[in-house]
Amino acid sequence: MKKSFYTRENDKIMRVLSDKLKTNLRQMKTLKNVTLLAVIALGMVLFACQKEDVKTTETEDGISKEVKRKLISLGVNPYGAYKEFIKYEDGTGEDVYIAENDLMVPVERLNRVKPKEGTNAEEYVGGLLDVGASRTIVVAASSNLNYMTKNALRDAVSEISSTIFGTKIDVSYSYSSNQNDADIYVSYATSGVGSTGILSGLPQNGDPYDNILIGSNFHNNGSYQQRIFMHNILHCLGLHHNDAQSMQSCPGYPGFDYSDMPSFPSLYVPGTPSGYYSSTAIMNVCYDPYAPVNYGLEYIDDFFQFFYYQ
Ligand SMILES: [Zn+2]
Repeated sequence: MKKSFYTRENDKIMRVLSDKLKTNLRQMKTLKNVTLLAVIALGMVLFACQKEDVKTTETEDGISKEVKRKLISLGVNPYGAYKEFIKYEDGTGEDVYIAENDLMVPVERLNRVKPKEGTNAEEYVGGLLDVGASRTIVVAASSNLNYMTKNALRDAVSEISSTIFGTKIDVSYSYSSNQNDADIYVSYATSGVGSTGILSGLPQNGDPYDNILIGSNFHNNGSYQQRIFMHNILHCLGLHHNDAQSMQSCPGYPGFDYSDMPSFPSLYVPGTPSGYYSSTAIMNVCYDPYAPVNYGLEYIDDFFQFFYYQ
């Protein structure tokens, strides 16, 4: 038996969505011009369900069911998730959970997912950017990045800003390497990135995820780097993997199958298809870095128009 609920945050989201749907109906002419074929699953919860018999025992992969529930409540698939100590270039570090290949969820962040009083449900916090009337997001590179990688990052920002041009969000590249000037700071991690080569995260508390970390085995090709940066900047701005639930783009990955877990949340952009739809989609869990950089961008603007409409 499952319970559904809406948190206060979700009530707000539902109101926003309701307004957006009305706006969308008025914009049907525009929408009809777009072949809407994708779902953009996001790192936020419309609703979640869970069984009453909460178990917090460790599972075979060493991640407790409580942690899995919390990851799910943030819209993250816990399959294959693991805990890692990330060390930043300034020598500081923190524990994070790494899930879906490239998403970091700080342990501190997960600890703020608390059961709501009177229910056994997790409270949801964050998910989308707090944009207000408009918002500029500045992306900056550490001075430790080499020339090619900085150029790839600058080109990734340029491609994204031209794709979402006309929404409330303006993404720009900063030539400053000062982390304090950046909303999203790209740097080398001195440990913890692992085989993926790059890590990022989903928005927290209305702000973009503030770090993109690359490791020593990051692709050594500028155009691959550009595409990978685009994927990860889009995570920081709120886009989740479109096939987060099935992980269909990753050969050998089983889909989400936790029969005693809450249903997997996603936020759906009306008129777009659900889940995996193309091997070239830029927001696949296992995306193709060899595809041209403009492949799979066709629904990105739909997402930004829908959630951050001008
Ligand atoms: Zn990703």
